Amino acid sequence: MKILIIGSGGREHALAWKLRQSPHAERIFCAPGNAGTADVGENVAIPASDLQALARFAKENRIDLSVVGPDDPLAAGIVDLFAAEKLRAFGPTKSAARIEASKIFAKELMRAQKIPTAQAGTFFLSNEALRYCERLKFPVVIKADGLALGKGVIIAPDTGTAKSTIDEMMNQGRFGKAGRRIVIEEFLQGTECSLHALVDGKNYLLLESARDHKRALDGDRGPNTGGMGAFSPADNWNSKLQSQFERKIMRPLLSGLLKEGIKFRGLLYPGLILTSEGPRVLEFNCRFGDPETQALLPRLKSDLLPLLEGTIDGTIDKCAIEWDARAAVTVVLASAGYPGKYETGKTISGLDDAAQLEDVRIFHAGTKDDAGEIKTAGGRVLAVTALGSTIEAARTRAYEAVSRIHFENCHYRRDIALSAVAANIDKLP
Ligand code: AMP
Repeated sequence: MKILIIGSGGREHALAWKLRQSPHAERIFCAPGNAGTADVGENVAIPASDLQALARFAKENRIDLSVVGPDDPLAAGIVDLFAAEKLRAFGPTKSAARIEASKIFAKELMRAQKIPTAQAGTFFLSNEALRYCERLKFPVVIKADGLALGKGVIIAPDTGTAKSTIDEMMNQGRFGKAGRRIVIEEFLQGTECSLHALVDGKNYLLLESARDHKRALDGDRGPNTGGMGAFSPADNWNSKLQSQFERKIMRPLLSGLLKEGIKFRGLLYPGLILTSEGPRVLEFNCRFGDPETQALLPRLKSDLLPLLEGTIDGTIDKCAIEWDARAAVTVVLASAGYPGKYETGKTISGLDDAAQLEDVRIFHAGTKDDAGEIKTAGGRVLAVTALGSTIEAARTRAYEAVSRIHFENCHYRRDIALSAVAANIDKLP
């Protein structure tokens, strides 16, 4: 099979790396890819936002399967476009991708299906949003309706911040069109966890649990980022929570989507917060997580390709999935300044040395090959994953690999998976 992977991050490198191992994969293309994907397959200089050019490439090169990494092309309808051209693509249609692209759509669906989530109001007019705030207990969470690169969620500790946030989002265009409509919801207490599910419209197959670290700095301080690290399995997850999750969230969600006439086919991952009253949904994502994928795929023993095919064909209930019992820890190396302004073009050294460590995988994100030299080319530069018999062992190995990699002004968190170390010792083999 000829496979096209769309996107250029660590997630796409991990997908390409895993699909490369499939006996059915003949050629792998990545558009636009990065210096890491160029090692696994062939990079194609088409940005993930140029849907027409991607469809043209897929058609001309007789691509058998396209796998869409990021949310933006999904929200823009890439899967619908590919279907119209009789091209096979993994990911939800534009209508199904609204579950991530519109927080209001997701909230209304959850309300209709009584799926546990934070109590919320949805607003189209700023004066109504401001009035609503007057009767709330603080802090509150204010969310832009649309996609805002993970930055559209503001936790407002007091009325003043809430008012200025509402004004900035709804009247000043802080997040452009994405912030014209907003959700205001109660602040929930608890630890977070993500569950990935391959959903074929009617049925789903759960992947292993994972946790990510969204804030830029140690101790969960600093601004929110795309993700500074992840680990799997999640230390706060167990079979009791999983059965609650399946009964109260996944099943009602799929029937709610079907009631709306939506067949969701692709990867669906709800971001959960585990409160004293059980799991609550914070958000839905309609594609593989980044960096969760970099922690999950090294643990996946099964061939990923038939799982993606089963999702598209509506036969995921017939697919089996096998996992490595070991834990995985992923540490993201970023350019200083990320998620704000950062410099690029720094030479990266030590990659080969780090890759020599056993059970270590180095996934590239913002990197490029500059005449044989690998240089930084983005905010998140690399995701370094290590497997280990415990979270602690995986963590030690991941940081050993990180210590061998160098580029000017490299920034990474030192506390990835740290909170899970003691908790996991008796749970893992
Ligand atoms: P979201 O994009 O909706 O997942 O929000 C990004 C982050 O904001 C989440 O990972 C949480 O850390 C935080 N967050 C979102 N909604 C809430 C909430 N209702 N209560 C507490 N924290 C929240």
